[in-house]
Amino acid sequence: NGGANDPKNLKVKLVLLGDSGVGKSCIVLRFVRGQFDPTSKVTIGASFLSQTIALQDSTTVKFEIWDTAGQERYAALAPLYYRGAAVSIIVYDITSPESFHKAQYWVKELQKHGSPDIVMALVGNKADLNEKREVPAQDGIDYAEKNGMYFIETSAKTADNINQLFEVHSHISTLPLN
Ligand code: GDP
Ligand code: MG
Repeated sequence: NGGANDPKNLKVKLVLLGDSGVGKSCIVLRFVRGQFDPTSKVTIGASFLSQTIALQDSTTVKFEIWDTAGQERYAALAPLYYRGAAVSIIVYDITSPESFHKAQYWVKELQKHGSPDIVMALVGNKADLNEKREVPAQDGIDYAEKNGMYFIETSAKTADNINQLFEVHSHISTLPLN
């Protein structure tokens, strides 16, 4: 009957967090529209998009995606978006150690103030810029493992691992929803 708890028709509130410029909006646009726009605009405050995907067993998963701005001046707004989220995707840029450091700040913030059963994923984006890499994949893997998070490297530019990132969460979402 289409309710949120109907196993055939799931709804997942998802939030993207991470430093400004790491590619959060591009990840969402790649997932929702299948596009990459290198001239995309900086997110102001936060933006909302939704996307429904079908799984093999005919279950559909509607992602309600909150894409946050990342700038310091909006940090106080972040709880509005991560509160009640079932999934949080924390993004850094593999060419930026500062952004990896900032990702760790968000993990700690969610551990302190997020829902205790929020599912967290750590995402190293811009994997296409491997020749400029400054964050070894192993550092991401180790940090994620220590904090009970999923880990994946993506490229919004080439689409590498973007669907895989969201598919992981659609399977998680068969667990009780909040
Ligand atoms: P946000 O502030 O985290 O939302 O970052 P944006 O999505 O606005 O992207 C910031 C910049 O990084 C833009 O110039 C994008 O074109 C670029 N960008 C985003 N994702 C990728 C990627 O996977 N590879 C490369 N090479 N550039 C990317
Ligand atoms: Mg953005």
